[in-house]
Amino acid sequence: MRIDVVTIFPDYFAPLTLSLIGKAQDKSLLDVAVHDLRDYTHDVHRTVDDSPYGGGAGMVMKAEPWAEALDEIIAQSNAKPTLVIPTPAGELFTQSRAESLAQTPNLIFACGRYEGIDARVVEHYRGRKDVAEVLEISLGDYVLNGGEVAVLAMIESLARLIPGVVGNPQSLVEESHGLDGLLEYPVYTKPPLWRALAVPEVLVSGNHARIATWRAEQSRLITEQRRPDLL
Ligand code: SAM
Repeated sequence: MRIDVVTIFPDYFAPLTLSLIGKAQDKSLLDVAVHDLRDYTHDVHRTVDDSPYGGGAGMVMKAEPWAEALDEIIAQSNAKPTLVIPTPAGELFTQSRAESLAQTPNLIFACGRYEGIDARVVEHYRGRKDVAEVLEISLGDYVLNGGEVAVLAMIESLARLIPGVVGNPQSLVEESHGLDGLLEYPVYTKPPLWRALAVPEVLVSGNHARIATWRAEQSRLITEQRRPDLL
């Protein structure tokens, strides 16, 4: 999978060289390229923003540098890319969206800053035949300073679904928001007694059927208590 990220803060993406995502890139399961939006400006100040039409607080990201950056990346893509624009006004990001993005051969993430990107950018690329889809996605119902953190979260969650990125594929099956849609049961490791707290007896019983039943019950209970909307 090829992922292109456009941002005015390329250094934000240094963590993608670490841990499982870094290893995935070393193994060529994933190829991430980060582009500086300011490289697509032509003035001495490398300006990417201007005041909003209609007035109001804050600045808006200009369409021209975005279009130059995106046109160049799209022209170099092997397959029609999906363009993802993080915004608090977008569709809520979920595990099922991570799953669909993980199946996409070419993804472009456009990290907004200030009050966001001139709305004509989304409109223009929605009409382009060389773009598969334009998605506006929110990480959650809160406002970040920029799209970078949202894009890091999206890349991490979709990349771990690419076959070979996570060592044991079974660990993906039993997770929260997995196939059964429930939250995961509580997990424990050694020692069996820690600060007067014992590991539940069933987990050290060696009885796999009982363990499976207990875990299923715990999953349902925790989901009922914390996220009844998922049931
Ligand atoms: N004025 C915008 C609004 O009210 O919808 C918020 C702009 S925010 C300060 C700047 C940028 O941060 C956005 O363009 C977007 O890229 C990113 N951002 C902020 N919150 C986000 C969220 N919850 N999910 C995804 N991206 C977010």
